[in-house]
Amino acid sequence: MSQFHLETEIIRSHIERSQHQEHSSPLYLTSSYVFEDAEEMRASFSEEKERNIYSRFSNPNTSEFIDRIAKMEGAESGYAFATGMSAVFSTLAALLNSGDHIISSRSVFGSTHSLFTKFFPKWNISHSYFKVNEVGTIEKLITPTTKIIFAESPTNPGVDILDLELLGKIAKKHHLILVIDNCFATPYLQNPIKFGADLVIHSATKLIDGQGRVLGGVTVGRADLIREIYLFSRNTGPALSPFNAWVLSKSLETLPVRLEKHCENALKVAQFLEENEFVENVKYPFLKSHPQYKIAKKQMKLGGNIISFEVKGGLKAGRKFINSVNLCSRSANLGDTKTIVTHPASTTHSKLGEVDRLEVGITDGLVRISVGLEHVDDVISDLQQALKN
Ligand SMILES: *Cc1c(COP(=O)(O)O)cnc(C)c1O
Repeated sequence: MSQFHLETEIIRSHIERSQHQEHSSPLYLTSSYVFEDAEEMRASFSEEKERNIYSRFSNPNTSEFIDRIAKMEGAESGYAFATGMSAVFSTLAALLNSGDHIISSRSVFGSTHSLFTKFFPKWNISHSYFKVNEVGTIEKLITPTTKIIFAESPTNPGVDILDLELLGKIAKKHHLILVIDNCFATPYLQNPIKFGADLVIHSATKLIDGQGRVLGGVTVGRADLIREIYLFSRNTGPALSPFNAWVLSKSLETLPVRLEKHCENALKVAQFLEENEFVENVKYPFLKSHPQYKIAKKQMKLGGNIISFEVKGGLKAGRKFINSVNLCSRSANLGDTKTIVTHPASTTHSKLGEVDRLEVGITDGLVRISVGLEHVDDVISDLQQALKN
C-alpha cells in the first residue's frame, strides 16, 4: 500500500490537525463531543455515522495510537486500554462465555495466571496449562468447550520462546482463537498475526512507552473479534486516557531506534554473562545456546532486551547480587531506558510454591535483567562488580 518503510510510516502517519497546523499531534483532552442536531446524534449513536461520541468509546489520540500499533502489527483493527492487564482481561472476558475453556502456556504474566486461576472460575471459565517446551501437547488438552489458546513469547521471566507458527497451525486446525501477549517483543520485533494469531495484546507500559512514565495496553487483530471487544469495553469502561494515548503514540515514533539499541546492548550483556565465571547459565533468545534459538531467529527480528541468568550459589547468591548492583535499578518494571534487575524467586513469583516456580523455570538463583539504553560498558562494569561481590 505504502511506498515508505515502516519507520517512516509511523512517524509520518497523522490522523488530523487542528486549525493551528501543529507539527506534532494535538492532545484532545475532552470527555465528550458535540452534535449539530438531533439527527446527527441519532445517526452517531446508531453507528450509521462513524464519529467520536464520548471518550470512553473513542478519542482522536487513542485512535491514532491504535492505528499506529495496528499498522505495525499488520492488524485490521484494535482497542486501547488503561493498562496491559485491562487489555488481557477485557479481551478474554469479551470473547468467553460461562462454560468455556481456555488453553494457555503455563509461563504467563503473574496477574494473567491469577485471572485464570482465581477469577475466571467465578464465571465458570476453566483453563488448562501446557508447558512452554511442549506446544505439541496442546491438542490433547482441547475439549468441546475450548475457545481460546493464549500464550506469551518470549515468556516472563524465563525468556523461553514458543513456536508461533505451530501455535497458529493448531489454532486454525481446531477453529480456536489464538491470542498472543506480545509484550516482550513489541510490534517492532515480532508480528504474531503473520504466524496465524487472531489477536495480539500489548502492555504498552513496558517497551512501547519505554521511558517508565505511563501505563497503557492495547489489543489488535481480526475486525470481527475487535468489534466484540469494543462493545464489551465501551460498556465496561477500561479505556486508555487520551493523555496516555498521546504519550504512547509519540513513543512509537522512536520505538524502532530504541529497540535497535536495547537489543544491541542486551546481546552484549548476554555475551558478557555467558563468559562470566560466577554465572551458571544465561538465557537470551539470540544467543546460540538458547534452547529455542532457531525458532527465535525465525519469528523475531532481534532478541529483545530481557535476559534471564542464574547466579552460581542459589537464593543467597541471587539476593546478594541484586543487593550489590549500584547503577542498575532494583525495580519490578521492565522495558525502561534504565537497566533493571529483579530476583523473581523472592519478589514477583514468591507466592508460587517451589514446585510451581520450577515448573515455569524460576530457580532460586534466577535473575531477570531488562537492559536499558545507558552506555553498555557502564552496565557491564556494574554487573561485573556485583557478580564478584
Ligand atoms: C507487564 C505485563 C502485563 C501487564 O501490563 P500492565 O500494563 O502492567 O497492566 C501483561 N503481560 C506481560 C507479558 C507483561 O510483562
